[in-house]
Amino acid sequence: MGATEKHMMVVGAGIMGASIAYHLASRGIKVTVIDKGQPASGATGSSFGWIHTTVSDDAPDALLRRASVADWRRLAKELPELWVNWTGALSYDDFSLESQADDSLLRQPGISQLEPALNNPPQRAYYAQQDGAVDPIDATRVLLDKACRLGATLKSQTAVIGFTREGNKITGIETPEGVLQADCLILACGTGISPLLDAIGTPLPIMASPAILLRFGATGHVVNTLISGHDIEVRHARNGDILAVEDYPATGGIDDIASDTLAAMKIALTGTESAQLLSQSVGQRPVPADGCPIIGFIGDTTGVYVAVMHPAVTCAATLGRMISEELVTGKALDMLENYRPARFSSGQGCT
Ligand SMILES: Cc1cc2nc3c(=O)[nH]c(=O)nc-3n(C[C@H](O)[C@H](O)[C@H](O)COP(=O)(O)OP(=O)(O)OC[C@H]3O[C@@H](n4cnc5c(N)ncnc54)[C@H](O)[C@@H]3O)c2cc1C
Repeated sequence: MGATEKHMMVVGAGIMGASIAYHLASRGIKVTVIDKGQPASGATGSSFGWIHTTVSDDAPDALLRRASVADWRRLAKELPELWVNWTGALSYDDFSLESQADDSLLRQPGISQLEPALNNPPQRAYYAQQDGAVDPIDATRVLLDKACRLGATLKSQTAVIGFTREGNKITGIETPEGVLQADCLILACGTGISPLLDAIGTPLPIMASPAILLRFGATGHVVNTLISGHDIEVRHARNGDILAVEDYPATGGIDDIASDTLAAMKIALTGTESAQLLSQSVGQRPVPADGCPIIGFIGDTTGVYVAVMHPAVTCAATLGRMISEELVTGKALDMLENYRPARFSSGQGCT
């Protein structure tokens, strides 16, 4: 059977599943996307949306991250409704300062020129001019809408609870409403993947790492870029609100984090004096145990392809393109070889 005759089923309508579905549908593949809730109801719905390319050269996902800007720019051309805000990112956390050559860093006068609202501009900061941000919920919607216009089917409120098989091959999914057959199954369901992999009998070490997205009402334009420092990590949303992101606290509650973040923002930025918390949400980031993406078929004969990583908003545009290429042509891409699920059983690791 040729790839274009196959029925491919994507489990998960987060940014990863949406991008894979869009790229497959663009190549004429029959695709069904299944989600137990609504699109972007997983980590994607709480994401900060930073297309974040700053990694050290030896990071295992460095090539993937650096390809991401070109792929998001391509998507923005293909999908005019897709909003990507190419403001660049100004970072002065320890990692960004240590991972960049000193002569590539901005000094205080340049920082103040770029971000006049910073009350205590740091001595040095790294400006990643190429970085941008998307609204992850909206981007997911745009990708899925286009996939559906190209012939894909979206089934929301449909949980995958088991699988049908013939020998080792998974032939379909079980849902509370019945069985759906597929020639190829793509698991792009974030932290929801672990029980499904257990049911198939090929568990993979994927952790759930909680983080908090905070939305503040602001009275005007405050920051020009995305700012990521030891004190604040903020950017404007498309409607002018200020978004901030924080790791989930080991102790204390989310309300404490929200008020501490608001206080830190008011100290750091002129123009946020009257800012108020509008909403807060916690998302579970899917983090493979070795920190590397997990991309590829599990086993040789299962017909099940896994696509899980963090940070997936950054890499979704690139991975959607590459994964669809592998699935349609049947040819493995060199750039993804490092990320295969088999590394956990072979002990080979991700380099
Ligand atoms: C606060 C916060 C800030 C972040 N900031 C950034 C950032 O700035 N940049 C970045 O790149 N990344 C960021 N991330 C990480 C990023 O959001 C995630 O890596 C990404 O959203 C994961 O996308 P996904 O599609 O793989 O998974 P998810 O978005 O979790 O989607 C999985 C989907 O699968 C569905 N599902 C699960 N189980 C089943 C089942 N059994 N049957 C059917 N459907 C199922 C779920 O309902 C869900 O919709 C952030 C995350 C958080 C929480």
